[in-house]
Amino acid sequence: MAENIDQILVALRAVEDPSGGGDVVATGRVAAPRLEQGVVSLILDVTGLPIAMRNKLEQQISATLAAVAGVSDVRIAMTADKVGRTIIAVGSGKGGVGKSTVSANLAIALGRMGQKVGLVDADIYGPSQPNIMGNHDKPEAVDKKMIPLEAHGIRMLSIGQLVDPKRALAWRGPMAANALAQLIEADWGDTELIVVDLPPGSGDVQLTLLQRWKPAGAVIVSTPQDLALIDARRAIDLFTQMDVPILGLVENMAGYACPHCGKISDPFGRGGAETEAAEMGVPFLGRIPLTLSIREASDAGTPPAAGQGEEAGIFERIAAAVLDEVNRKRSTIIV
Ligand code: ADP
Repeated sequence: MAENIDQILVALRAVEDPSGGGDVVATGRVAAPRLEQGVVSLILDVTGLPIAMRNKLEQQISATLAAVAGVSDVRIAMTADKVGRTIIAVGSGKGGVGKSTVSANLAIALGRMGQKVGLVDADIYGPSQPNIMGNHDKPEAVDKKMIPLEAHGIRMLSIGQLVDPKRALAWRGPMAANALAQLIEADWGDTELIVVDLPPGSGDVQLTLLQRWKPAGAVIVSTPQDLALIDARRAIDLFTQMDVPILGLVENMAGYACPHCGKISDPFGRGGAETEAAEMGVPFLGRIPLTLSIREASDAGTPPAAGQGEEAGIFERIAAAVLDEVNRKRSTIIV
């Protein structure tokens, strides 16, 4: 008979914690194991484990304990801390300014800074993250929750993986809100930061995100020319009206370095976003040049932020500025 809790503990110590650090007793995953008349009961803390891994660990512990002589039943109560996730919205006044490119590279750069990052592609007008991130797999679902895909050190889900992108285009109101819920409430595991690539402008997806999942802040992407900046100002107004702090403005496609002669020209002007940011009293987060390599890297599914080149440094600095702003905004909210 195994009316001896020591045998149960020995059996548990043979089960490794899937997130490392030793066995499930040593890491504290298993708490309060008890044995009464052949029935083992325990609490299993599955904080930070994706659903599939949780279920596997539960089954493994159950099978291990059931094999101990005299054990007739195993009862496991799973608990998990709710992970406080920070959502960063990336918006723009209009399409084509590089909002998706910035979202992907910002997310990767944040990941390289040690954050656990997820990227949500909520751009119903042109979900491009599977292309940019170079992952076209179809995500699976466990217990009706989608399991994000992995690419370049971060997790990601795209509305383009849910439906045929051509159909998503016609979505309005509840359909768009539903799709967004599936993406945001997916099985993100221990993800701390979620970067959301929003559609341009201010439609149903923006309103749903702002009302239901309150982002910690918004990053606005604009090209330097006046027309784009007028639209960017509208995007900023929308977030501000909804009480979402503006983390700052990113100027994209600023200055074109000719790949042949190296001469810098400014097809869309230069510095417009920085001046605009100053006028509106929002932080200026950085400037990304218009380069052939950024376009080619996006098409090839190898975002520059994941590499070692000069552009990786640009995105790293923007990511550091974003993180700084998130932390500053957080502390202002608390104080
Ligand atoms: P949006 O999400 O605002 O519609 P995208 O990120 O899809 O814009 O970018 C539109 C196009 O511009 C893509 O082909 C992308 O590769 C290209 N692009 C974006 N930023 C740059 C840049 N800094 N230099 C060169 N091409 C860029």
